[in-house]
Amino acid sequence: MKGAFFALGMPRHAFCSIDVTARCNLRCKHCYFFEQGHDVERELSADEWFALLSGLRRSAWPRPFFAYQCSWVGGEPLLRAEVIERCRHLFPYNIVVTNGMIPLPAWRDVHFFVSVDGTRDAHDAIRGAGSYDRIRRNAERGDLDVMITCCLNRQNLDCVEELLIEWDATPVRHVAFEFHTPIHGLATDAELALSPEERDRALELILALRQVYGHFILPPPRTYRLMRSDRSRATTDHCLYRSSAVVLGPDGRRKRPCMLGPKADCDRCGCIIPFITRAQVDRSEILRDLLGLD
Ligand code: SF4
Ligand code: SF4
Repeated sequence: MKGAFFALGMPRHAFCSIDVTARCNLRCKHCYFFEQGHDVERELSADEWFALLSGLRRSAWPRPFFAYQCSWVGGEPLLRAEVIERCRHLFPYNIVVTNGMIPLPAWRDVHFFVSVDGTRDAHDAIRGAGSYDRIRRNAERGDLDVMITCCLNRQNLDCVEELLIEWDATPVRHVAFEFHTPIHGLATDAELALSPEERDRALELILALRQVYGHFILPPPRTYRLMRSDRSRATTDHCLYRSSAVVLGPDGRRKRPCMLGPKADCDRCGCIIPFITRAQVDRSEILRDLLGLD
């Protein structure tokens, strides 16, 4: 279905990203969300979200393509599981991006992306002491579709191989990597942001490990090739997520340019989403993957 869906290019407003809440039960070093100054008092209720989202879908054209995929983010979206419970059936394809601190609900129709930023010591240094063991317990759910996502930065760059060995032995289905996106004004940026050379070295390692781990590493290699420093601006200067996605803050208002907010440095964006989006419509890169060319 998805291949056919993107065959003619990226439909406008095909993606939706919803900040379910302005709250979170962690305070990660690299957090972009709390740099955006959301007001907890203005969070929409579950009923208000349902009215807003069903209205958007009713008024959209072409309707089958509007918000085909919805990402439930935040803050920590599972702090307001009742909103997702109520509204997710409005969308054909749902992703819940969670920090994994809360046990995952038994939603077999959604894809859970659980943030794991390195092996135990590195992860706990970034996300808080004791968080790794708790997340690991919650993420090991063979009954659910769980992928872990690792945001690489200066503090966890050497964890890639060990992380794969560790999680390959669990029921988790996939691992994806991305990079810290510098945020203007974020106090920890200097200790986290990677140089282009460091990013490129990490990408080569990930592509080499893809040969060993196959589809356990997602997304397909073309996404990581597009992230190389000599090519990344071709994607971020024309970010398809910026132009194609509907991104809503906790108060239901449009957030621009994307879920990372207005302080994100697009030129050094390490978020995997724009590269995945580009990789889905880049025919020469799709062909390279089909032919197994690096
Ligand atoms: S889990 Fe996400 S929203 Fe919460 S502090 Fe960490 S990066 Fe920010
Ligand atoms: S920060 Fe990244 S995802 Fe957001 S608009 Fe810029 S390039 Fe796109």
